[in-house]
Amino acid sequence: MEPMNPKTTLVLLHPDQRVGANMQRWRQLGGGKAIILAVRSPAAILEQVKQAELRGLGGSGFPAWKKWEAVAAETPKPDKYLVVNGNEDEPGTFKDRLLLEETPHQVIEGAVTTALAVGANRVVFYVNPDLSRSLAAMRIALEQWKSSDLVELASTALGRPLELLLAPGSGHYIGGEETAAMEWIEGRFPFPRGKPPYPAQSGIKGCPTLINNVETLAYVSHIAVHGAQWFRDLGKAPGLGTKLYSLSGDVLHPGVYELPKGTSLRELIFDHGGGLLSGKPLKAVFTGGPSSTLLTPADLDVALDFESLKARGSNLGTGAMIVVSEGTGIVKRVAEYERFFAHSSCGQCTSCKTGTATISRLLDRIDTGRGTMSDLNTLKNLCAMLPGSGRCHLVNGAAMLLDSAFGHFNDEFVQAVAKSGRS
Ligand code: SF4
Repeated sequence: MEPMNPKTTLVLLHPDQRVGANMQRWRQLGGGKAIILAVRSPAAILEQVKQAELRGLGGSGFPAWKKWEAVAAETPKPDKYLVVNGNEDEPGTFKDRLLLEETPHQVIEGAVTTALAVGANRVVFYVNPDLSRSLAAMRIALEQWKSSDLVELASTALGRPLELLLAPGSGHYIGGEETAAMEWIEGRFPFPRGKPPYPAQSGIKGCPTLINNVETLAYVSHIAVHGAQWFRDLGKAPGLGTKLYSLSGDVLHPGVYELPKGTSLRELIFDHGGGLLSGKPLKAVFTGGPSSTLLTPADLDVALDFESLKARGSNLGTGAMIVVSEGTGIVKRVAEYERFFAHSSCGQCTSCKTGTATISRLLDRIDTGRGTMSDLNTLKNLCAMLPGSGRCHLVNGAAMLLDSAFGHFNDEFVQAVAKSGRS
């Protein structure tokens, strides 16, 4: 790991990590060093992650160290859990599956290093059941770890056996929400729980539980080995470190790109993604998966980091960028994503269950030439009423996307209604 070329910005997708489930090769290339460091000084790992300002990269952007500190401060009851969240299921997001499939040892090393830092003796790798190749790679890699000296070392440091468990998820999008994941791991339908209590105090089976996304944890071993400053210097100010961006839609070269945080949207789409298909002009970008706001050509020079996007009323989310070219109807695209939200609602909160279903039904009506101005007004009212009304973020995402679409493309909605000839 140490000889990493200082000029490259590749960390997670560095060729030394992309060795699949071949543990021998991975260790020859330097893998495993972070475990030794974490065994020597768990507190130093936590401090490095804090100094690096590593954020939650599954969509929240919440500072990872804050959750870590809360869990590290708790006494096991009788266990302490770390959940590696690989439920990835949002349209346009496909970065974690790549890490699990091509770099399983990197993910496991990051997780075990984290477990040592917070004192967790049970590590659950929670993976979307539809990602068969990711699951297969993780199954093989975990077996190798279980019989390795690294787990033995970690167990000795923890003072009890370190257990590594693979848990295929439920196949529900909502199962990626942290408390829903815990419900599923405990054997129940993944309904998000109300908070408090927070997972740090009472998570799986009432034990202190830390849950972090795959990408977040994959960075940990590198920060442990190379230090916080090295990680910070990889980003473009004010971004820190690198980030995986899932680029899809109407671009020439869709894929997962690891770039310095703070790279502009223009660089991502045109320098790395090769520009738009057939040379068409850019119309919009659905960011963060579709549960955020739309960006437009006026935002091409925005830096892709948490702060810069927040300043535009948007968010980085998972780092997914779905590109839409001129000639594509926004009403139809938004209707497709809203159908996804309605289908994914777990139905626990009345506002979300009826709100997302109503949004989906009215948008379908408008998109198929049967809408009215009254439907449009109802949709706009829902955008104002729904945010904050549910237990989890799903309902907020559904409202945010629609509100943003009205903000940028209101004319298209009005024209769709006008075509219906109804008032
Ligand atoms: Fe379920 Fe929606 Fe409530 Fe979330 S907001 S818990 S998805 S009903």
